[in-house]
This record gives sequence, structure tokens and C-alpha cells, in this order.
Amino acid sequence: MHAVVFTAEELRQYLYCPRVIYYRRVLHLKPPPTVKMEHGAKLHSRKPKAGGGEKYLSLHLESRRLGLAAKLDVMEYESGKIAPVEVKTGRQPRHKVNGHILQAVAQAMLLEEAFQRPVEEAFILYKATGRRAKIKVTPELKRKVLETLAEMRKMVGEELIPEPPAERARCRDCEYRKLCSDV
Ligand code: SF4
Repeated sequence: MHAVVFTAEELRQYLYCPRVIYYRRVLHLKPPPTVKMEHGAKLHSRKPKAGGGEKYLSLHLESRRLGLAAKLDVMEYESGKIAPVEVKTGRQPRHKVNGHILQAVAQAMLLEEAFQRPVEEAFILYKATGRRAKIKVTPELKRKVLETLAEMRKMVGEELIPEPPAERARCRDCEYRKLCSDV
């Protein structure tokens, strides 16, 4: 059992830039959202058109065993199978985004635990184009989720500010930019 429970969204943020989690979980800072984030939140609140099957919206799940929690945008149930659908407001990126993939896999892991059945697939719905990316929930991806959560717990426990991301373009729209004097 873990005392610290991270959300699947925080896992995504950590993979984007670990400092975001340092600011949130060590310094407990939460700046106001940027204009881009507010726009994204408005788009996100519109009902998503996910695939077929029954849909359950805004499902809250938490596991102390995994040290993980999530609010699922959509859970789909079809032909005896359940799957999470993570809704993104933008277009599907040209390259695979690790954070998006592991966030969806983390949601699948929470569903597995809650419903005590295997969850083999997870989906990401990119609202700007309506495209759905399918992710196969493999043991390797699940292991990566657990390893990342362990890294996050270590970083928070040590209270050491992480390095900024190598890809500095990430800082451009970041809500914490004013705090990062070295980027
Ligand atoms: S401004 Fe850059 S280094 Fe600072 S938290 Fe944001 S992404 Fe990370």
C-alpha cells in the first residue's frame, strides 16, 4: 500500500516534465491555468463521441496498492470487454507520446483492479480530428507505469528539483514557466 497516490494525469505531466510534479507535490504550488489550458478545458467538457458499446462518463477510480488514481473520461463496455477512453482536445501528434500512452495504460490498470478482469486495450480520442488511437495494454507498458510511479515517489521523497526537459519547447506553454528561471 502506498501513502502517496498520484493521478494518471500527474503521471502524464511527470513524463512531460518532472518539475511540474515537484512544484505540485513538493512545493504545493498551483498557478492559475494558462489561456491555452482554459480553452482546452472548455473543449474537453463537451460530450465526447467515443466508439460503440455502452459508455460510462467521469468514473473515479483509486488504488492504494498501485498508488494511483484517475478520473476516466469514458469507460466503454462492449461484448464483455471494458476499456478506458482518454479524451484529448487537440490533434493526434505525429509521434507517439509516452505520457499519453502511459496515462491510458494506468487507467486500464485501475479498471483491471476495480473490476477484477483483464483490460487488454485502452484508447485515446483526439477530439480535433475525431481519431481514436488504440493502445495494447502489454505487461511491458504496465511495468513502465509502475516504474514511473516509483520514480515519482522517489523524487517527491527526496525533495530535489529535477532538471528541465531536454526539449525546451515544452516550456513555452507551461503554467509553471514563471517559476523556472533557468529555462
Ligand atoms: S517551464 Fe519547463 S522546466 Fe519549468 S516546469 Fe514547465 S516544462 Fe518544466
